[in-house]
Amino acid sequence: MRPLLILDCDEVILEFAGPFARWLREAREIELRFDSFALVGNMRHLSDGRPVDMQDFPPLLDGFFEHGQHLQAPAEDAIETLTEFARDMDLVVLTNIPAAYRDIRISMLKGLGLDVPVHANDGPKGRMVKELAGDRRAVFVDDLPPHHSSAAKHAPQVGRLHMVADATLRGLIPAAPDAHVRIDRWADARHWIRDYLEGTA
Ligand SMILES: [Mg+2]
Repeated sequence: MRPLLILDCDEVILEFAGPFARWLREAREIELRFDSFALVGNMRHLSDGRPVDMQDFPPLLDGFFEHGQHLQAPAEDAIETLTEFARDMDLVVLTNIPAAYRDIRISMLKGLGLDVPVHANDGPKGRMVKELAGDRRAVFVDDLPPHHSSAAKHAPQVGRLHMVADATLRGLIPAAPDAHVRIDRWADARHWIRDYLEGTA
């Protein structure tokens, strides 16, 4: 059976922070500055400097997923590495995006050469990691520490690689305590993934 690579999308395959900040400025006249690892609290209206209210955040994120996904460039070396992996592994994307915007994500990835199944998830990812992996050797890659905790709980046999593709965010997100390893660049991650899937990591 071919091994399985379960991939988050934002900050793993595609850049997120930069394109989201750009879209907020251009489409909503909101400034997003990463002074800490949080989205709400770091967003201000450009007109008067007012912070963006918590309740206004979900529609902004939805707006980006509806109108701004085309701004998301691939993370460095992501497409090359994943294209190479696809020769002898199955790839699946497990992304927390509302189901309504899943087709846009699928066509974005297809346009970059990644014709892979995309699961739109909501909340912690551990149960879906377990379901997707089944009895196969598998590795899960995500930038958010709580998803690694959830995967460790529900699918402990799956390799957990904590990756933060965005250079600005990297310094703001500590290594996920429940991941096996923290590697931020695809060029460095490929070896660990192969070793884990071959049972030597
Ligand atoms: Mg992500």
